[in-house]
Amino acid sequence: MATILTVGEILVEVMAAQRGQTFTETGTFTGPYASGAPAIFIDQVARLGAGARMIGRVGDDGFGQLNRNRLSADGVDVRFVSVDRDLPTGIAFVTYAVDGSRSFLFTAASSAAAGLTSESVVPEAIAGCDALHVSGSSLFTPTIATAIETAVRAAKAAGLWVSFDPNVRPELLAGPFRPIFDTIIAKADVVVPSVEDLAVLFPDDPPDSAAQTLLGRGARWVACKRGAEGATLYGPDSKVDHPAFPVTEVDPTGAGDAFSAGLLVGLLKDLPPEMALAQACAAGALAVTKQGPMEGLGKRTDIEAMLAGR
Ligand code: ATP
Ligand code: MG
Repeated sequence: MATILTVGEILVEVMAAQRGQTFTETGTFTGPYASGAPAIFIDQVARLGAGARMIGRVGDDGFGQLNRNRLSADGVDVRFVSVDRDLPTGIAFVTYAVDGSRSFLFTAASSAAAGLTSESVVPEAIAGCDALHVSGSSLFTPTIATAIETAVRAAKAAGLWVSFDPNVRPELLAGPFRPIFDTIIAKADVVVPSVEDLAVLFPDDPPDSAAQTLLGRGARWVACKRGAEGATLYGPDSKVDHPAFPVTEVDPTGAGDAFSAGLLVGLLKDLPPEMALAQACAAGALAVTKQGPMEGLGKRTDIEAMLAGR
């Protein structure tokens, strides 16, 4: 079984209890839930039974403990998740509009997560891994963005696959992080954009030609995620579609990260593209069935049951 490494933010998520609730009025919030895009991803990798390791940083507080406990209970190697004595664990607050769209309020940039530096990317963390997965959401301060870039370069030099979920936040991409973002895309073997990401990155192109452009720039696989509409996987000489599995969506956060985990574990196992994509869609579908980014994530047996139509 392959071992996958990720590096990036570990956060707790605290979400509005009611649709239509805003940040400007007092309301009820629920949480804390374990979160952070790379953390959700690596938790799903571990739940699928593959080797899973994370480089991250949490505060010396209950929120940090909650995340470390959760990741290690699910089988993630957290030896490279360090504890910051000064800064607290980051928080993502979420509200849901009446139409289901989300607004986020992040404290990551002033949290322990922002204390991740290039020095955190130690060779022992990369040794023995087969792939590195990173997320565009991690490029939120110059220091952590440089740490992510360092990890990508070190992983490539060590012969690992690099997988990248652009997770575009247009306000971050408009800032100084664009060159690092472009470097990561250019080095990625697997790119896992949502259809919304592709529209920001390639505003003039339909998803099909945007995906072909990414393949032309050196990616081996590009998977386009379309929420409840399913996903498409583009490969060296293939294009496969998969519909979404029918589930009741309770909370969409985490679907994309679970999908990336299912896909990467499948591709590293050399599954045929249609099977790797089906596993990714099953992981994404299960992720949305519970409140909280990691709460719905399926174990290998849950995902196999969904694939078998049970
Ligand atoms: P995130 O909200 O975590 O950033 P994303 O936008 O990157 O997610 P989505 O397209 O929302 O990614 O979800 C990834 C995959 O998960 C989809 O391609 C689909 O297979 C599955 N999925 C997402 N939402 C649903 C849903 N409501 N029902 C069934 N499957 C879903
Ligand atoms: Mg989505």
